[in-house]
Amino acid sequence: MPRDSGAGLITLAEGVHAFIGEGGDSNAGAFLTPEGWIVLDAQQHVPLAEKFRAALEATGERSFSCLALTHYHLDHSAGSSVFASDAPVLAHEITLEKFREVLGPDVKRGDSFTDFETKAACMFGPNITELIPAEDPAWEWFRGRLGSSEYATYIAAPPTQTFADSFTFHLDRRTIALEYGGPAHCDGDVIAYLPEDGIVFVGDLLFVGRFPWLGDGDVDGWISALNHVLALNVEQVIPGHGKPVGVKEVADFRDMLAALKEGVADALGAGMSEDEAVARVRLADYEHLPRYPEWMPWNVRNVYRALSAR
Ligand SMILES: [Zn+2]
Repeated sequence: MPRDSGAGLITLAEGVHAFIGEGGDSNAGAFLTPEGWIVLDAQQHVPLAEKFRAALEATGERSFSCLALTHYHLDHSAGSSVFASDAPVLAHEITLEKFREVLGPDVKRGDSFTDFETKAACMFGPNITELIPAEDPAWEWFRGRLGSSEYATYIAAPPTQTFADSFTFHLDRRTIALEYGGPAHCDGDVIAYLPEDGIVFVGDLLFVGRFPWLGDGDVDGWISALNHVLALNVEQVIPGHGKPVGVKEVADFRDMLAALKEGVADALGAGMSEDEAVARVRLADYEHLPRYPEWMPWNVRNVYRALSAR
């Protein structure tokens, strides 16, 4: 188990670290290699990415060989420019497509974006303006989430190298397998599996201590991606948000997604409208979690739309 606790850089195994976001904000990973750090995810804004980079450099290794991204969401990628000047940015090919969809087909490193709509699409998905009507008071929360000065300018650093299905780093003591399992939390989600260490970084396939965002996700794909994680031989699971856990928490989280899907399916089966489903579907065991009040309605709407389109 981790030798430290709380936010900041922790050690999971020799040369394997996680940078745990303060207050449940996004996590990142780092793997020491003879060619420098392989970094996994880049924090949600440049100042935090600089703090992450400084924590890595403080260990004595100051070179960077690769930045890999678990997915495109702003809170995992907006610090990429802090690493992209030294290292290639590696991601699944769908993650590059997502960057192009949200930031434009010709987006390149160093392009900057300041408008709220682009940043919101990068944070919550390009469908966010279809999901939340323009006049809905919920926008106030979303504007507030991206309202502080650290988010004022998003500097792009889209993937420079992509793969389909999987990409494996073969190091002296371990392998690091980046594996894609289909649309799940968004699309392009990859896990970083370290079989020799019994460690897996699952990105936003798992939220710990915070209710998940499913507004641009695929509930069935997400459940099957978690079943894949549960079939791995791992003891330490590093979520996209929250502290490292074991496989029990992965199973509990999968069951919560299944309960959400079942609740929406029951509402549809009873002939409820989307608004009625939002009012009626509850996850009593999760209502206490941060983000539940703000995100549950949009998660229900996304699942309702997916199930009713079948
Ligand atoms: Zn995400």
